[in-house]
Amino acid sequence: MDLTYQDVKANYDKFIMNTYVRNDVVFVKGSGSRLIDINGKTYLDFACGISVCNLGHCHPAVTEAIAKQAGELVHVSNLFMNTRQAELAEKIVKHTFDGVVFFSNSGAESNEGLIKFARKHGNANGRNEIIVMNDSFHGRTLATLAATGRSKYRKGFEPDMQGFVFVPFNDIDAVKKAYSEKTCAVMFECIQGEGGIIPADPEFMKQVRAFCDEKGILMLIDEVQTGNGRTGHFYAWQGYGVEPDAFSTAKAIANGFPMGFFMVKRRYADILSPGTHASTFGGTALACAAACAVIDTIDHENLLANATEQGDYIQAQLREKLQHFPFVKTVRGRGLLIGVVLDRAPGVFLPLLREKGLIALPAGETVLRLLPPLNVTRAEADEAIAIIADVFAHFQA
Ligand code: PLP
Repeated sequence: MDLTYQDVKANYDKFIMNTYVRNDVVFVKGSGSRLIDINGKTYLDFACGISVCNLGHCHPAVTEAIAKQAGELVHVSNLFMNTRQAELAEKIVKHTFDGVVFFSNSGAESNEGLIKFARKHGNANGRNEIIVMNDSFHGRTLATLAATGRSKYRKGFEPDMQGFVFVPFNDIDAVKKAYSEKTCAVMFECIQGEGGIIPADPEFMKQVRAFCDEKGILMLIDEVQTGNGRTGHFYAWQGYGVEPDAFSTAKAIANGFPMGFFMVKRRYADILSPGTHASTFGGTALACAAACAVIDTIDHENLLANATEQGDYIQAQLREKLQHFPFVKTVRGRGLLIGVVLDRAPGVFLPLLREKGLIALPAGETVLRLLPPLNVTRAEADEAIAIIADVFAHFQA
């Protein structure tokens, strides 16, 4: 028997831990850019999970890869090999830099690996502190929380794990000032997502790279939200012409199937040696088959170009159509990682947009975040822009 909305709500209230600020919507189906709720209402999805279903919902290539692999081999221990991991790692290297990959299951787990890698590398010379950024977000595990600049997430979970030094984002002088003989790495997002869609200055990226080279420390990039095509590049650092020593990702790499990885340049391939890091589910044949299908689809459907083209269009249209509203300050982002910066919390607009059939998200304290799928069409972009302009106009009136 299918559950009703009331059944679902009652079960959530009774049986599921109340850790999310949840909206009163139950989704039952997704296809491409559209979601359908339990009452049969259709929505245009400009959230994609939170930059997870980057190819849209239930992309046939991913669905087919998962179904086929589920009938062949789901999992073997990482004490053995599977063909899909080998295939995926090669594809990732071809799309990034010469290096080695460690497979994980989530963004936080990928960042834990990145942090462990940096400590293992640095501890050889008595260095284990990482310079991180104010307003950053790296996950909800204890190490990634300690590296997260938005302190509200750490509240109540003290004591914080040691070894992180915070500086203002995009401030190279602060990075240099925070550096000491204990520093092993600088870690940040190319575009702060949860912090409010705040891009790194191109100059800052170059300066951090030069500083890390000068001091012999690691430049680490968190590509959990920005990665896998979202900004019009496979990874956002590729749009800056600066290579990190290592980076992490998760979210969209398998279009909604839990999957992540971090990778390091080949010269660091032996830092994490046998027995120093592991994950039971990391890189199952099933997850890797899904991720292979994602990468192939981004290539075959030319989705990086579409993300750039539609992203530029959406941002330009939003600027033109929204900036006369007194509560809109600016529009910013890269590719299809887009923020409409407001003078107030975006929460008031989200249910109004949903009522008109558009799913969007908040970011930071005052940003309305839009994360359309990489294959979004011009017609869907126009539809979303019209809904936002309409909701803003009604709100103003
Ligand atoms: N890093 C960044 C930049 C993120 O945006 C997120 C999630 O929003 C994470 C890490 C944590 O990822 P996960 O929720 O998969 O652990």
